[in-house]
Amino acid sequence: MKFEAIAVENIPLILRGDDLPSIICENIVLEDRDIVIIASTIVGKAEGLTFRLEDITPGERALELASRNGQDPRFVQAVLSRSREVLVEAPFILATTLAGHTCVNAGIDDSNVEGELLLNTPENPDISAAKIGERIETLSRKKLSVIVTDTNGRAFKVGQTGVAIGLYKIKPVKRWIGEKDLFGKTLEISEEAVADELAGAANLLMGEGNGGVPVVVIRGLDYYCENYPGIREMYRPEEFDVIKKGLRCLLKK
Ligand code: GDP
Ligand code: MN
Ligand code: MN
Repeated sequence: MKFEAIAVENIPLILRGDDLPSIICENIVLEDRDIVIIASTIVGKAEGLTFRLEDITPGERALELASRNGQDPRFVQAVLSRSREVLVEAPFILATTLAGHTCVNAGIDDSNVEGELLLNTPENPDISAAKIGERIETLSRKKLSVIVTDTNGRAFKVGQTGVAIGLYKIKPVKRWIGEKDLFGKTLEISEEAVADELAGAANLLMGEGNGGVPVVVIRGLDYYCENYPGIREMYRPEEFDVIKKGLRCLLKK
């Protein structure tokens, strides 16, 4: 068994309005069932999601929160504007985005963005992935999947990894429940976060710095799925999210 992870070379610096599907298809010959993994940074740039702090006026809540966590109130306002819920306020903001993804600063940062600019993550990464995926399929005449990724930290462990935030034609969670283990026992609770594992594999080639590799193609694995559920499938339902419940309790104190 083996699979390949292929860095797509010669991707330029991406600007607002750039046609990512054409740029990708010009630089790699795709095959059926490829999984095209795209860093949200370039999706955001192409969608024109850069902004300047000087254009933001912090509201009351942003000012109050900034006074406690030491961040720029305008940055805090940008994060609040993209968030459905704040779970940690200090020393950093952990927030659930409007699309339902929970991460530090709602995914807003300035790395690999020009000058003083900051970058939002795509507002609805599933829609971004689908638009890009449909167009890539048309251009390449292949049936394939797309994952839009970001780099996130995890609770409990040091170090960030690639994670999926938007999907096209891939089933993100593989359920092992009901399958047998090596000794014939029936598995009762195993679910494998395949889309995050693929994002992590791709991130090994992307890195976080000046590598200039925002697109990686995974070839040789079969996760193609026409009736895919979307990224929400990966977010634990509220009633089972013990950690979120705990964080809410801490916030109230
Ligand atoms: P994120 O994980 O989506 O936040 O993206 P990163 O900022 O970590 O960047 C991932 C990879 O994409 C790195 O190799 C960056 O150098 C590269 N990258 C980011 N923006 C661009 C761009 O506009 N053009 C190219 N060619 N590479 C980029
Ligand atoms: Mn990022
Ligand atoms: Mn990254």
